[in-house]
Amino acid sequence: MRRIAVGLLLGWLLTFAWADGLREARLNVRGEVLELTPPALWDGRELWLPVQHLEPLGFPLEVNAHAIRLLTMPPDQPTAHIPLETKRGMSCVPVRDLTRRLGGYTRWDEPSQTLTLLARLQEARLEGDMLSLKTSLPVAWRTFKLENPNRLVIDLAGCALPEVPIPLPPPSERVQAVRVGQFDPNTVRIVLEMEVPHAAPENGLHREWQIALTPAMPIPTAAEPPDTSPIMVGEAHPEEPAPEPFQIPALQRVSQGVVQLSVPTPEGARPRVQFLENPLRITLDVPGYLQEAVEQVIGDPDLFVRTMRAVPIENGMVRLVLELSRSVGAQILSGKTGVTLHLRAPRNTGGKLSEKVIVIDPGHGGAQAGARWREGKTVIEEKTIVLAIALHVAELLSREGAKVILTRAEDKAVGLYERTALANSANAHFFISIHCDSNPRPNSASGTTIYYHKDDADSRALGQAILNEIVKVSGLPSRGVRSDSVLYQSGLAVLRTSTMPAVLIEVGYLNHAFDRAKLVQPAFQKRIAEAIVRGLKAHVEGL
Ligand SMILES: [Zn+2]
Repeated sequence: MRRIAVGLLLGWLLTFAWADGLREARLNVRGEVLELTPPALWDGRELWLPVQHLEPLGFPLEVNAHAIRLLTMPPDQPTAHIPLETKRGMSCVPVRDLTRRLGGYTRWDEPSQTLTLLARLQEARLEGDMLSLKTSLPVAWRTFKLENPNRLVIDLAGCALPEVPIPLPPPSERVQAVRVGQFDPNTVRIVLEMEVPHAAPENGLHREWQIALTPAMPIPTAAEPPDTSPIMVGEAHPEEPAPEPFQIPALQRVSQGVVQLSVPTPEGARPRVQFLENPLRITLDVPGYLQEAVEQVIGDPDLFVRTMRAVPIENGMVRLVLELSRSVGAQILSGKTGVTLHLRAPRNTGGKLSEKVIVIDPGHGGAQAGARWREGKTVIEEKTIVLAIALHVAELLSREGAKVILTRAEDKAVGLYERTALANSANAHFFISIHCDSNPRPNSASGTTIYYHKDDADSRALGQAILNEIVKVSGLPSRGVRSDSVLYQSGLAVLRTSTMPAVLIEVGYLNHAFDRAKLVQPAFQKRIAEAIVRGLKAHVEGL
């Protein structure tokens, strides 16, 4: 009976734990795991930290009843405020969002249920005998000396190397060489080779600070034993011989306009591939060792790639960056011992924009207003904004000489299947649907998203080309080019049922004050329309 009761209680507790989808989690800050009561809560995507634990993070913040304000950002920016949310009766802060906005980043570890916060090293300058360092978040730092050759070591705990390498101070009379590396997953190590290593102060916790390399007092000769410090973690040792550096692999032309890139990886490695805009690029993160960034300029325009760059990033990984000379249809094949990328010109590209048939689809219409926002007596409706943008796009495309078909040119309802049937029967080359976003929580999301269907590489390339131009003029954050399978398993109807490359543009969030203020402006609508046309032109004719 008692066992049954315990079982029931456990069952009830488990149900309860499942019901709100939250799990207790730990937080690693500056290389140290914090023991917090009450604990932080993980919802599968975000870590919710009870507001009373903000202090140990050392972030520049101001907390009020409903939100926190980031003091390093201008207060008129929507990104400067983060609303608090109630989780299990506690007022909580979304730590990942907060860290990202402050220029840091986070790493979730499932087995230990721990979120690690990391700053990025932003600056290392040497002026005379003064070394200035800057990181995106406060880090715990300390210095010590090593001999043979003599050098000063500065360890930054809770820090990672920048994504794009920063310039390092050139050698000087006093400092013969400066090196920076990721010593372990949570620590950046800066090494200064110098005759008489000295640093003052020797440690601290800051985001910006200066270290004097000249002793004011007679030089102490005894070097401190460095290897017992509590912030040194991991197996790596500075004296170990460096492994073979990562080599940029060659682009190869295989059959009919297909370019191939094969990157070998250790067995079991899971390379990460990202498609990014402004500039248009593909990045591959693979395990590897590299002391500093290397770059290769590709002269042949038929290879679709302008430059290839390899950059050391955190955690023994190398990021290979392919800066593209045009939008490409890309296929990724991950094997046991490597990843292979196939690049080709996307479907219906080539020739001139003036030769193309393009369907422009302003979302909603008539009784279907789409997203709505009421402000006093004014009602702002998605259908009106997207029609204005679409009419501009149609006019600009016609001026370019392209054939344009609008699914609606006035405020009327059109069925979803009617829209794509129109495009399919006209044998259009491209289908472009224009919308505004909205979500359940006002002022929580901002920016432009472009959707393509499932894993259609041609439509993704089209979306990338358009987003690449929108982000240059919108002043809104890019939320990326995404597969519509993140929304619904079957994707979006207008993308699923169109037979040509098709994208759906969510220009901005109608229920975010920052986006809305832009979306309603005729000048902004025109700017977005121009960007869409420029993106289309680049997609067809190349950059
Ligand atoms: Zn819509």
